[in-house]
Amino acid sequence: MAPERPLPKEPERLARILQIGVDIDCTIFNLVPSSKLAAEKRFGIKIEDERVSDYWFLEEILKGAGIPEKERRLFYQDIYRSSENAGVYLDSPPMPGAIEVLRKLHQQGHEIFVLTSRSAEVLPVVEQQFVAQGINWVGGLWPEGNIIIRNEDYWPKKGPVMVDQVFKLHAIRGDFPYGRYQNFPGLDYHLDDQAGLLGHDLSLGVKERIIILSWSYNREIVPETNLVENWWAFERLIQDLARVEKLSLELPNVAQS
Ligand SMILES: [Mg+2]
Repeated sequence: MAPERPLPKEPERLARILQIGVDIDCTIFNLVPSSKLAAEKRFGIKIEDERVSDYWFLEEILKGAGIPEKERRLFYQDIYRSSENAGVYLDSPPMPGAIEVLRKLHQQGHEIFVLTSRSAEVLPVVEQQFVAQGINWVGGLWPEGNIIIRNEDYWPKKGPVMVDQVFKLHAIRGDFPYGRYQNFPGLDYHLDDQAGLLGHDLSLGVKERIIILSWSYNREIVPETNLVENWWAFERLIQDLARVEKLSLELPNVAQS
């Protein structure tokens, strides 16, 4: 293990303010246990804990249990896209360190944006979920607040849907071609659990801004430089990046004097 870098005496004086994006599901809150419970209740089945190591196994398990595709789709629609069945979100526990680190980064003055492809219908649930964790500074729709939600502009009833990865990459790049977030300036860094963000064409030129939180389904395919083991590692990375950027900004002045 590399030795810890000594911290400067006044780290806050060295830090640059960063615009930080964070995905919600399976990044801030763990959807796995609540989704498992919802599936067991709905279909009257028992799912062994070791079979649900992550969120993506649910589809395999339900298929294996003989649940027809139509019923599986209705189930996902009910638990993930309807405000009436928001229990699956409200019962998701935070990922280890997530709340503590978010709070710290916010206190240090970094701007935190919460990015999600949940439906706009569940927006109040999103806010409620953070308040339940003692975080009352996440809310609204940008520019009034800092929840960047893939709302009806990008998920229209008719017409093409902007898929999740494209939506997030436009947020990172700050180049939404249309819709509510057209003037969003972009993000310095974004934390997500989806490795697919790095594989998309729109990630060209912004790959170093995309940080992936390690899960069994992404750690084999994400380059080491883009992967963090947990939220505390993300915090250290942000502290380092804020310092490095500040120092590199100051270097030319130092050379001139
Ligand atoms: Mg996610």
